[in-house]
Amino acid sequence: MSGVEHGPEHGPSNPPGAGTGVPDGWERLWTPHRMAYIKGEGKPTGSGPEDGCPFCDAPELDDATGLVVARGKTAYVVLNLYPYNSGHLLVCPYRHVSEYSALDEDETAEVAALTQAGLRALTGATGPRGSTSA
Ligand SMILES: [Zn+2]
Repeated sequence: MSGVEHGPEHGPSNPPGAGTGVPDGWERLWTPHRMAYIKGEGKPTGSGPEDGCPFCDAPELDDATGLVVARGKTAYVVLNLYPYNSGHLLVCPYRHVSEYSALDEDETAEVAALTQAGLRALTGATGPRGSTSA
């Protein structure tokens, strides 16, 4: 048999790759657990901090409940409840802002420092082959 196998039950009516699209070089992540978020779970009802903003709510909770892994003076680090992959960290200011460019000087410096600390921790723990920051 040739090609990529995706499960043990392949046959004429269920060939390898059926339902998953055509395999290509992108090696897409399969994250079906994100469907809850895509369907609306945990999404804010508006744009204000009182509209269920998860980034305003998380630091108000205890660390385990809020998935907070580090707290700074102006920003904190939280695990993504709906991660694309393991180790998906979010570095957030405590202040409700919609744009990175809206951060003040102290917030910008602390977000950068917490991002570096998070990447170092992940590198030490899991040795990822890469990372992205946005
Ligand atoms: Zn917020």
